[in-house]
Amino acid sequence: MKDKRIARALAENLRALGVREIVAESPASALLGAEGPVDVTSEEDLSREGVIRREKETVDRCRKCGLGSQRTHAVYGDGNEYAEIMFIGEAPGAEEDRQGLPFVGRAGQLLNRLLEQVSLKRSEVYIGNLLKCRPPENRDPLPEELTACRPYLDKQIAVIKPRIIVCLGLYAAQAILNVKESMARLRGAHHKIGDTTVIPTYHTAAALRFPAYKQQIYDDLCRARDLAYG
Ligand code: SF4
Repeated sequence: MKDKRIARALAENLRALGVREIVAESPASALLGAEGPVDVTSEEDLSREGVIRREKETVDRCRKCGLGSQRTHAVYGDGNEYAEIMFIGEAPGAEEDRQGLPFVGRAGQLLNRLLEQVSLKRSEVYIGNLLKCRPPENRDPLPEELTACRPYLDKQIAVIKPRIIVCLGLYAAQAILNVKESMARLRGAHHKIGDTTVIPTYHTAAALRFPAYKQQIYDDLCRARDLAYG
């Protein structure tokens, strides 16, 4: 875990300096078995950024369900590939579809504020969705769309290996935990998938409509932060 944190900090620093890749020369290239440019990561995570980049390119071309032909941009996900905390929402909205980035509309701005309040930086977490393309008029995802898109999310989780997954909204919580229970029952309970703790909470879009949810999301973010870094 310490190595992962060091790798993440190193990659963050290099990214902040505008470095996207390095060319390893002998003896490092011999040690790593690398030829030519390699990603700025630890040996363990040598291909992490590369895999995420390739997956994003695949999603940008994807037409596995009907949403692919209706989107402006696919929204693969965004954030730190070394994140300890990964957020998973439902699907892109209008602003996300326009920009090709997750959680950049009003619900995303609320998420940013809540992250700040619990001393988490958006740049240190990863944010994705169940669906990578926007359903028209923000309708609920269809089962066949969720099934078609799920392998992309599973790969994302497998590559990023978060310690904590925060599910934003009932769709995400039910899909990740593979259950049909209500948010009232899921929230606050202890959920584990392998070594990963899953924390279901309300979607920030719901908190825009029902402000009382903000406190509950805040409490869940505190728990995620404490489990990840405490
Ligand atoms: S929603 Fe997912 S499966 Fe459907 S077209 Fe977009 S990326 Fe492909």
